[in-house]
Amino acid sequence: MGDKERLFEYVEEHRDDLISTLRDLVRIDTQVPPGKNYEKICGLIADKLTAVGCDVTIHNATERYLTLSGVMQLGLEGPRSNVVARLKGKGGGPSMHMSAHIDTAAIQKDGWSVDPLGGEVTKTCKYGKSIYDVGGGYIWGRGVCDDKGPLATAITAITGIHELGIKLKGDLILTGNCDEEIGGVAGLGYLIREGIVKADFGLQLDGSMNMINLAAQGRTRFMIRTIGKAYHGQMPILGVNAIEKMSKINVALDNYWRNVLMKRQLATPGIELPSEIREAGVDKLTAMLNIGTIKGGVQGATVPDLCEEEVLRCMTPAESFEDVERELRAVIEGVKATDADLRYEVEVVNSRGGYVVPSDDPFALEAKKIMKEVTGKDLPFVGNLGSTDMNYQVVDGKMPSVNIGVGETYTNYHKRDESVSIDELALCSKAVALFALRKLA
Ligand SMILES: [Zn+2]
Repeated sequence: MGDKERLFEYVEEHRDDLISTLRDLVRIDTQVPPGKNYEKICGLIADKLTAVGCDVTIHNATERYLTLSGVMQLGLEGPRSNVVARLKGKGGGPSMHMSAHIDTAAIQKDGWSVDPLGGEVTKTCKYGKSIYDVGGGYIWGRGVCDDKGPLATAITAITGIHELGIKLKGDLILTGNCDEEIGGVAGLGYLIREGIVKADFGLQLDGSMNMINLAAQGRTRFMIRTIGKAYHGQMPILGVNAIEKMSKINVALDNYWRNVLMKRQLATPGIELPSEIREAGVDKLTAMLNIGTIKGGVQGATVPDLCEEEVLRCMTPAESFEDVERELRAVIEGVKATDADLRYEVEVVNSRGGYVVPSDDPFALEAKKIMKEVTGKDLPFVGNLGSTDMNYQVVDGKMPSVNIGVGETYTNYHKRDESVSIDELALCSKAVALFALRKLA
């Protein structure tokens, strides 16, 4: 039997280990914000990977990265820990960096029909079915799909490589990086920008088994504040209403994104957008803006002197953070030109850029072949509007990279009742193992 067949058989025979690893990860609450328990989950991963021959180190992001992450504005708690495991090769080959994130989306307080930190297993999924489901069942909990499932599949693949005594030439590096859901600045951003992780190729494990992601938009989070003057609400003529001022800004922002930003599109030949967005009439990476929160005022009888909102600016990979900030300020200045009483502040919470790996990149083409060997399908190259940590691999780390993973609509990722197909997890583990063999053996 060849190494590929032995590894695939290993994965099949060790599904129970994969599930128990995933359950261990899910039982540690790492929802962000606040993103507590990173040290704990890094320690668990370190123990598992040290036991199978990896050199493992844990890296806490420095103060500067905490500030850039928006630690104050987002209410983050605890150290921003990241785990880096290296399965050393015997030399003479390129290295590959695999990344999965250890944080999860928030857990909704009510409405879960299973324990979100439980890792329960069922035969079927009431929200739909994986196209890879061959009766292996489903596992439930926050992060089983996004992104602890893929992390567990990588741990299983590395364990298999070690236990089968397969010697790779190049180093295989796995990172469990934090804070992806809030921009990853103190996570993979820190590891790559500080030179802690360097490799020749990148595999981001935060995607899907149905497509190969090569591009994504970036995003910048802004806090906007308007400052008014409080007064008795029955004499509003004597106050300055901060909510009214924000309303003017919002009319301008609405006009700006629908009429200006939506025209700013970036073509990515050979890379398609997911069908849901194409059906909405958008077939290219497109700049947009979302007014995500607003708060202000204390009661009807008082003129509000403060209004605050969070705005998410979705950036095409061609847009820079500096340009985006300058433009947003210019839109608000345009409102101020018509209203001398408008006082405001704009604060940047954090920013993560977009990326594009060309569809004729040799690693992307090789990834297509690998995924066909594993799934039997010709998977499309896709671009997403939502961003991932692959940005740091492509832009900062200069690594040709692709993004795969598990999950589709049935998994309810980020929603209540997240689940994932165990058959799909096993397939992802085989894909990870095959990437290691093809690139590093
Ligand atoms: Zn994710």
